[in-house]
Amino acid sequence: MACSITGNLSGTSDEMAYLVYSYKFKKDVPLLDEYEWAKIAPVMLNPIQAIKDHREKTGKGLREAKEWYEKIGAPEGLQIYFEITGHRLDIYQELFAVRMRDYGALCPECDKPFRTPRAKLCAECGFALPNGKVAGPIDLTSIHHLKI
Ligand SMILES: [Zn+2]
Repeated sequence: MACSITGNLSGTSDEMAYLVYSYKFKKDVPLLDEYEWAKIAPVMLNPIQAIKDHREKTGKGLREAKEWYEKIGAPEGLQIYFEITGHRLDIYQELFAVRMRDYGALCPECDKPFRTPRAKLCAECGFALPNGKVAGPIDLTSIHHLKI
């Protein structure tokens, strides 16, 4: 059976980055656990404040400032992500889609993660959990177990 979690990219024991299928990217990307995310969180911007500051600094309009925020934002964050994972993201906004905590457990049918831990239905294959059940978070021990 094909597995959507294909292993540790970085190759060192204290820096674990796992390739997990992301609905956002439509492919496997390295997702960050909370320990890794904590290295990026301090440089992430408050969007409202960042857009306001950018407008004041550059005199640009709201639309341009929003575009700047989505594409450029905090380049340090993209750099830290690259240092952790060896993988480059194209734009700042993509950083918001690589936090493992936001994904649900792996679908028992297709092995791809549910979109969120609260999901009841797999967005990839349509598998429905029994009434009253939700996906829950990705189980890190199952990822370690699957790691080759
Ligand atoms: Zn599925």
